[in-house]
Amino acid sequence: MAKKHQAARPLQTPSSAYTSSTDTGLSSLPVSEEKISALRHQLLTWYANSGRDLPWRRSRDPYQIWISEIMLQQTQVKTVIPYYERWLKALPTVAALASANQQTVLKLWEGLGYYARARNLHQAAQQVMAEYGGEFPPSLAGALALRGIGRTTAGGILSAAFNLPAAILDGNVKRVLARLIALPAVPNRALPQLWALSEQLLDPQQPRDFNQAIMDLGATVCTRHHPVCLICPWQTHCTAYNQNAVTDFPMTSPRPPLPHKQIGVAVITDDQGRILIDRRKQEGLLGGLWEFPGGKIEPNEGVEECVSREIKEELGIEIEVGTRLITIEHAYTHFKVTLNVFNCKHLSGEPQPLESDEVKWVTLDEIDQYPFPKANSQIIDAIRRQAESG
Ligand code: SF4
Repeated sequence: MAKKHQAARPLQTPSSAYTSSTDTGLSSLPVSEEKISALRHQLLTWYANSGRDLPWRRSRDPYQIWISEIMLQQTQVKTVIPYYERWLKALPTVAALASANQQTVLKLWEGLGYYARARNLHQAAQQVMAEYGGEFPPSLAGALALRGIGRTTAGGILSAAFNLPAAILDGNVKRVLARLIALPAVPNRALPQLWALSEQLLDPQQPRDFNQAIMDLGATVCTRHHPVCLICPWQTHCTAYNQNAVTDFPMTSPRPPLPHKQIGVAVITDDQGRILIDRRKQEGLLGGLWEFPGGKIEPNEGVEECVSREIKEELGIEIEVGTRLITIEHAYTHFKVTLNVFNCKHLSGEPQPLESDEVKWVTLDEIDQYPFPKANSQIIDAIRRQAESG
């Protein structure tokens, strides 16, 4: 474990300078020292009484805190806890993670989504071993040099592990600050101002507790849809509340509808009842995970026709497309998919990884050893149900 830093000390930040903006109007919202000190005191008092007891808060080990911070990106606490506990049992140290193979890492992450996080964690652990002797670097520049660590994650780790005064600005914090000052802009268009405010508010004596407290405030009181202002420690200073306009903040911009892709998928079996799976290329969405082969249905193409064509292009084999096994709807951040999954028989040809990193014939008993994306796990369940019903 790296050395602990008992007292907070000044930290250089990438852009500490306050960027005023007439667009956002934030420059005309002075936050006095007196108000800052009241906000800190109110938040820390509330946190001492109402803060959540979370597994990673009982640790000062930068590695454990780092794992939690990466898992918590875009993912709720209750989802993260079992993954976090399982991960630390399997890979208890940065050295264990660095020397693990990628399939083990992806299997532990299976179901959490945003798999680039796991691949980056793995590579960053190797960086920590190679460049920092296995100790997480206790500086903002060092943390930011690690793969997959941005400014808010760096701030979360450095403050929680070393009590360093590094500010954070995750989705929860953006929302709380936007309401606190009634930010007259969409938060993502006022990031320099929000970073400056987060730094200004951060308690230099207790950055660890302050950052945890503001995250808790956003997660449990100042929530997106149902803020509970009546029990909020910042109620008296909150501009949105005092203007009776909480639901107007944070401001949002209209989102275009998500594109929807129709995909044909093949569950190909051979004479021995084995199933063909392939491993996606490292780059891009779901890189390194296994899946059932298939691809996008072209305009004016039938789904069976698509499955047959895709398998020939991806694997160089001929198949017979049989009955529909299951249809799965799944949403990613930037698009939605419908997976039209068909039972298929292998007819001829040796499967080759023409558009993937690897192909494999596996039995139903072996298939659980491989990491699959969530939607593909539903396909495995459907294959099992079908096998059980004969
Ligand atoms: S008073 Fe309401 S809107 Fe303001 S910070 Fe507290 S919970 Fe959020």
